[in-house]
Amino acid sequence: MLSCPHCHCHIILRDLPHQGFWRSDRRCPNCGEHFRVDAKTRHLQAWFIGVALVSLLLTVLLYFRGGTDCLLVTLISYLLLAGLIGWGNRKVYLVPLKKE
Ligand SMILES: [Zn+2]
Repeated sequence: MLSCPHCHCHIILRDLPHQGFWRSDRRCPNCGEHFRVDAKTRHLQAWFIGVALVSLLLTVLLYFRGGTDCLLVTLISYLLLAGLIGWGNRKVYLVPLKKE
C-alpha cells in the first residue's frame, strides 16, 4: 500500500491527476505536498518500456511476415511484460519531490 512520504496518508496513484505532460510528480490530496516515484522504480519502468517495445516489434513482425514463426516468442514476451508490470507495481516507492 502506497503512502504519502510527507503525511503518510493512503495514496492511490491512478486516482491522482497528472501535474502536466512533462512532469512526473503528483500532489497529495491530503497535505498538498508533491512527491514522485523513487529512482529505482523509474529505472525499472524504463526497462519495462524496452520489453514492451520488443513485444510490439514482434507483433509487427508477426503481422508482416505472416505465419506463426514468431508467435510463441511474441506470446512469451507479452506474458513476461505482464509479469514484470505486476511485479513492478508492488515495488513502487514514493519519495518527496526535491524543490529546485
Ligand atoms: Zn500527504
